[in-house]
Amino acid sequence: MYAHILEERKSSIKSPARDSTPIRCEAASVAGAVSQRACVYCGARVVLNPVADAFHIVHGPIGCASYTWDIRGSLSSGPQLYRNSFSTDLQERDVVFGGAEKLASAIDEVMGVYAPRLIFVYATCIVGVIGDDVEAVCREAERKYGIRAVPVKAPGFSGNKSTGYRLACDALMRLLPPREKRGKREGVNILGDYNLAGEMWIIKSYMREIGIPVVSTFTGDATYERLLKAPSARLNVVQCAGSMLYLAERMEREYGIPWVKASFFGLEDTGTAIRQVADLAGSPAARRKAADFTRRESGRVARLVAPYHRRLAGKKAAIFVGGGFKAISLVRQFREMGMETVLVGTQTGRADEYEVLGKLVSPDTVILDDANPAELEKFMREKGADILVGGVKERPLAYKLGIAFCDHNHERKHALAGYEGVENFTREVNLSVNSPVWRYARG
Ligand code: SF4
Repeated sequence: MYAHILEERKSSIKSPARDSTPIRCEAASVAGAVSQRACVYCGARVVLNPVADAFHIVHGPIGCASYTWDIRGSLSSGPQLYRNSFSTDLQERDVVFGGAEKLASAIDEVMGVYAPRLIFVYATCIVGVIGDDVEAVCREAERKYGIRAVPVKAPGFSGNKSTGYRLACDALMRLLPPREKRGKREGVNILGDYNLAGEMWIIKSYMREIGIPVVSTFTGDATYERLLKAPSARLNVVQCAGSMLYLAERMEREYGIPWVKASFFGLEDTGTAIRQVADLAGSPAARRKAADFTRRESGRVARLVAPYHRRLAGKKAAIFVGGGFKAISLVRQFREMGMETVLVGTQTGRADEYEVLGKLVSPDTVILDDANPAELEKFMREKGADILVGGVKERPLAYKLGIAFCDHNHERKHALAGYEGVENFTREVNLSVNSPVWRYARG
């Protein structure tokens, strides 16, 4: 199993049948292993970018600013400012003499042209090296313009994508009003959905269906104004636990808001999530509505997808996604579709999530944390995967190997959450796996 695997990587790759010791995870990437993980700045940007009326200024070289809305297309029902990319475009001269002045000028320019109420300033690798006082520049901008200017000190080298998630959550906490101003407690916040293809709207429609108001969304389709209302919610519903569990824990400590993890991927998990939210935040009427709604919708969708399941039965899936909570849902979803998961891995999964995965998958399934392309290729070939579910960085790998691919991340255009998502996902997997092209691509 471990042939051609770097010695230092072996403890991050497990198979339940072979090894019952815990997998190595939540750790720094092995130097030279060419990890699939994104950097700290990317982790922070993923979480904050969907705040649609904020300005996102990247203080660093222009290359960091290439990470934009265009490769992480979250949707907004209102403002579109977040779709632009702003950078201080640091050059050699700035690296020698400092870039703080350039940042202050960039903020002046933004205020002159757009006058936003909220600016996030991301300090990337080179700023971490030259040590510009980004905090001071932001403080001065707040004083001068009466806005919020929040520094996100996220040099790529200062950790991994999870570090960026935490920095983004800290930045969001800086915005929220103090506990004593939180008002009447009602409704829920949805945390960890980024409305990539309208999923936040689907989840909100379910809440409406069962009569539970949504106070605030983190951060899919968010605006500054709506974020400020978050402390008045009764419950935080956490969809992407990898990025937002930390925020939920901080809000529990600081505002006394309890949280629940709720995955809206797959028939089983969507139904459980809706009923759970109704149990924890709703009236007896909401609980009745949730039970009726989930029974009705899961029956309707099960009938719709049944013909596809016949075409997918026995096919083998490989999964490599950002967080462990999503990976767990996907393994369950493939099982609902009659498919076996032969490989499952994540960029930032936690020990408790890998434990659940270990119990959920077949004994021979390969489980990997923080994998690299060579490992994914080796195990997908060995296990005979028919499809890889991943993100933008995994797509070319699948196609080069002649394996079907389904984007469950940045680039997708079809919603994959909720009951609508079950239909879309099943159709897409069927189209991709059963496409005749693979006969030619594999030679
Ligand atoms: S690793 Fe550093 S230089 Fe590269 S994108 Fe991330 S912050 Fe920018």
